[in-house]
Amino acid sequence: MTTIRVGHLYPDYLNIYADRGNIAVFARRAALRGHMLEVTALGMDDPIVPGQHDLYYVGGGQDREQLLVAENLAGKAEPLKEAVLAHDAALLAVCGGYQLLGRGYRGFHGEDMPGVGLLPAETVAGERRMIGDVLLECELEPGSRQTLAGFENHIGRTTLDPGSSPLGSVVAGFGNDGESGFEGARVGRAIGTYLHGPLLPRNAWLADWLLAQALAHRTGGAPPELEPLADELEARAHAVSAERARSRGGRF
Ligand code: GLN
Repeated sequence: MTTIRVGHLYPDYLNIYADRGNIAVFARRAALRGHMLEVTALGMDDPIVPGQHDLYYVGGGQDREQLLVAENLAGKAEPLKEAVLAHDAALLAVCGGYQLLGRGYRGFHGEDMPGVGLLPAETVAGERRMIGDVLLECELEPGSRQTLAGFENHIGRTTLDPGSSPLGSVVAGFGNDGESGFEGARVGRAIGTYLHGPLLPRNAWLADWLLAQALAHRTGGAPPELEPLADELEARAHAVSAERARSRGGRF
């Protein structure tokens, strides 16, 4: 049994659409493989200590909540970058959290919020909210294509630096900016995405990918092959969600 140490950043501020549900999925899927999840809330007064957590999680929030945490989070940019980029911890950042993991976010009322600069992205609020079901095609491991189905609701338009990796390409929905055909960002074991609500119950493969990366961080070895689970309900939830996105119409 391995204890996977999760650092949950600002759970009191960034938890829109019950993003916290993603943590329940990690806990359950880890337990079914005989592992334990130990979740620590990392709030305003808590330092980030590289090597202390195997997986970081940041949920979404509206501009108002983002404004409350942005400066505090940006003040922890160096240890967070070290934890993820040098120590290879895994990270999942959703929506408002995703925006703040990039270089910064200019909110709807022109508020400039500093970002962590861990993800090669910049976000500026546009005129029009991008809402609805989304379907992506992802290839996190060469040769292993997967689809990711979810829901997006954001006014921020995120631009990735040229040559950097998105999480996936948009089959249906808006994605990062409604134009590029990209959704999310990926650097090593870190993933940022607009998909939430919660994302992992209907995309079990992504939960397992992140758990395997977290286990690799914990043990210092390669990401393990996790024993497959039945996942019937998860597959049905994925199919329903994917179909809703498809019927909304492909944009790219
Ligand atoms: N406030 C951000 C936006 O609208 C993020 C919203 C969210 O997390 N749902 O772009």
